[in-house]
Amino acid sequence: MTTLGDSTQVLEPLAGGILRATLPMPSRPGHVHSYLLPGADGWTVVDTGLGLPDALDRWSGILGRLDLSVARIFVTHFHPDHVGAAADLAELTGAPVYQGALDYEQCERTWHSSARQDVTWAWLRDNGVPAGEEAEMRTFGEQYQRMTRYAPDPLLVEAGDRLDGWELVAAPGHADGQLMLFKDGLLVAGDHLLPRISPAIGLWPDSNPDPLGDYLVALAELPDPLGRAAELIEHHRARLDQLAAALDGERRTPYDLSFPLFGPELTAAARRFAVTETASHLERLVRDGRAERDTTGDGLIVYRRV
Ligand SMILES: [Zn+2]
Repeated sequence: MTTLGDSTQVLEPLAGGILRATLPMPSRPGHVHSYLLPGADGWTVVDTGLGLPDALDRWSGILGRLDLSVARIFVTHFHPDHVGAAADLAELTGAPVYQGALDYEQCERTWHSSARQDVTWAWLRDNGVPAGEEAEMRTFGEQYQRMTRYAPDPLLVEAGDRLDGWELVAAPGHADGQLMLFKDGLLVAGDHLLPRISPAIGLWPDSNPDPLGDYLVALAELPDPLGRAAELIEHHRARLDQLAAALDGERRTPYDLSFPLFGPELTAAARRFAVTETASHLERLVRDGRAERDTTGDGLIVYRRV
């Protein structure tokens, strides 16, 4: 790997003159990538990393190594590790921020108010998470909310639009409104396709009702030179079978069913993601006619084998 700069500010050259910046994350997978796309009027920065306390300094260091200025910032989706430092980077560069219209709507709804933690907790509780895990799950959510400094009032774009010659392509599933960039056989895929891990496909309080279904359709439609989409489709097929096998006549919550799917040894923060992923897989099984959803008298969402 050819790198420019020290290990904390790696800029790796890729095909087509693209640069890849590796930015730190305090939780797994430990880092996130930002892509810098060259253009006639300057760089397009795709995704901004988490809004860590040193995000402004870190970006100053990265931009100091570039020959051209930043012409625009593009956010693929509203997760903290992608949109988190958008306000910092916009302030630093004066460049306009572009974000998908649906994605920005979810971004604002999710991050503009601390009351959101109440909505998320109510949803987790209804999905069977015991009260004993509330404090730790809320703390995790609050930490990430503080590290999410999205840029207000971005320029809104949609799938099919073009940005400096790149076509914007819908990539739902991991985030309903995620957009990828495609040009000359190069795809900047956000979190839609990841090389070694399977992107989290979670059901959340007001995500689309069947995000895994959306994801599998989008993967099947993707031009797939590396075969990664096919691997991910197979991965989810196996996970759906594993979850279906864990169902019986008993009514169980997504929290209960996250144990056979993800094992017992998870932190509260990881369990929170496990519950959302189990729920997205259960909703897919319901639509496949392999599971039945019900609500108990005290408001718990439960599933059983059909
Ligand atoms: Zn993401």
